[in-house]
Amino acid sequence: MSTMQQTDVVIIGAGPSGSSAAALLRKKGYQVTMIEKQYFPRFSIGESLLPQCMVFLEEAGLLETVNAHAEEYAFQFKNGAAFLRGEQRSFYDFRQKFSDGPGTTWQVRRAQFDHLLAQQAEKMGTDIRFGHEVTAVNIELEHPILDVNDEQGEHYQIQVKFLLDASGFGRVLPKLLDLESPSNFPVRRAVFTHIQDGILDQPDFDREKILITVHAKDHRAWYWLIPFADGRCSFGVVAEQDFFDKYGFEHTQDIDLEQLFKRILADDESLSRLLKNAQFDTTVRTLVGYSANVKYLAGRNFALLGNAGEFLDPVFSSGVTIALKSSSLAVPLVDQVLKGESVDWMEQYEQPLRRGIKVFRAYVEAWYSGEFQDVVFSQRQDEKIRGMVSSLLAGYAWDDTNPIHKNAKQRLNTLAEYCREAESLEEKSRETK
Ligand code: FAD
Repeated sequence: MSTMQQTDVVIIGAGPSGSSAAALLRKKGYQVTMIEKQYFPRFSIGESLLPQCMVFLEEAGLLETVNAHAEEYAFQFKNGAAFLRGEQRSFYDFRQKFSDGPGTTWQVRRAQFDHLLAQQAEKMGTDIRFGHEVTAVNIELEHPILDVNDEQGEHYQIQVKFLLDASGFGRVLPKLLDLESPSNFPVRRAVFTHIQDGILDQPDFDREKILITVHAKDHRAWYWLIPFADGRCSFGVVAEQDFFDKYGFEHTQDIDLEQLFKRILADDESLSRLLKNAQFDTTVRTLVGYSANVKYLAGRNFALLGNAGEFLDPVFSSGVTIALKSSSLAVPLVDQVLKGESVDWMEQYEQPLRRGIKVFRAYVEAWYSGEFQDVVFSQRQDEKIRGMVSSLLAGYAWDDTNPIHKNAKQRLNTLAEYCREAESLEEKSRETK
C-alpha cells in the first residue's frame, strides 16, 4: 500500500537549479525534499560556467564548497572566451567588462560539480532521495500531490505546499501538464566527449579560456574546447543535421561517433594542429533537439527552473547561469507564497527571467546568422563596446544598464554593420598601400 508524505517544497531534479533552490529554501528554514532519479556523481554535459554564476552560487551558500574542491577535481580557472575562425583569432577577457561583478569562474566536470552542490544542499538540511523518480503530479489541488517510485520501484505519494520542477531535459511538468512549446531555433545536434588534449607549448592556446572555433567550411557549425586543469578537455561540435549527414552520419544505432567526430575535425586545419596529439579515450556521445521552451513558467503552486523551462543553445555557455538565476528569482517568491502573500508569477518571475534570456537569444541568433561572428572577429571594435560584449559573454544578461542589452537585436545588427564596414575600409586601405 502506498503512503502519503508531506513537506513544504518538493524539487524534482538535483542539477544546479534544483540544488541551488534547495539551498536557498533551507536558508529560509523550509522543509525541502529533492527527488533525483539518478545516482550522483553522474555525467552531465555543460562544463563551462560564466562569472555571473559565482554571484548566484555565493548567494545560495554553495560557492565555498566549489572553490574548496576545485584543485581536487581539476576544475579549471576561467577568465574569458577565445574564438577561432580559420587563421582569425579573437578573445574576450571577462575581467575587462562593463558590468560589476566577478570576472572569473571555473570550468567544471559536471559529475563532480553537481554532486558537490547536492551534497552541500543536503548538509544544509535538504532531504535528497537519489534513485527516486517522479512519475505523475496532480497540480489541480491547492497542495499538489506527486507520485514517486523509490529505488525498489515501490510507489509512494508526497503532498507539498509548493512544487519546483528542476528536472532539466526530463521536463517533468512541461510533459505532464502539456506546457511544451516549440523552440524557435532549428533542430541542432551536438557530438561531444572528453579527451586527453595533448596540448603542449602552443602560445596561442590559453587554458584559462573556453575556445569556440567556427567550422572552416560552414559558419553555422562550431566546436567547443573546454579545458580542465589536468590536461583534459571537454570537446564538442554543434551543427544542424544536414552538416553531420555530409560527414556520413546516418540515423542508425551503430554509427561510429568517434570516427565521425575525427572526420569533421580533419577538415579544420587550425584546430587539428592544436589537437594533433589528442587522444580520444572516452565514449563519444550525441544529443539532438535540446532547445526547448514552454507556454508559461509558473502557476499558483508550481514553477519551472532551469532547463525544465527554456533552454536556448550551448554556444555561449549560458545554461547553468540561467538555471541558477531562475532559482535566485523563484525562491523569494516561493517564500512569499508559503507566508500566504500573493505573488504575480508572470510579472515577478517569468518576465524578469525571460528578459535576460531574450538578450542571450539575440546573441545566439546573431551567432548562427554570422553577424555576431563578424563582431567577435572584428579588429576594429571600440574598447568600450568590447567591454559591453564581454559582460554579456560573462553572463551578465540581466544588467539593464548595459547599453547593448536594450533592443539587443537591433543594436547587434548596427554593431555588426559597423564592424563589417570598418573591416572593409581597412582592407581597401591595405590594398591601396
Ligand atoms: P539538469 O542539470 O539537467 O538536472 C536535471 C536533473 O533532473 C537531472 O539530474 C535528472 O536526472 C533529474 N530528473 C529528470 N527527470 C526526473 C524525474 N522524473 N524524477 C526525478 N529526477 C529527474 N551550460 C553551461 O552553463 N555551460 C556549458 O558549457 C554548457 N554546454 C552545453 C552543451 C550542450 C551540448 C548542451 C545540450 C547543454 C549545455 N549546457 C551548458 C546547458 C546545461 O547543461 C544545462 O543548462 C544545465 O545542466 C541545466 O541545469 P538544470 O539544473 O536545469 O538541469
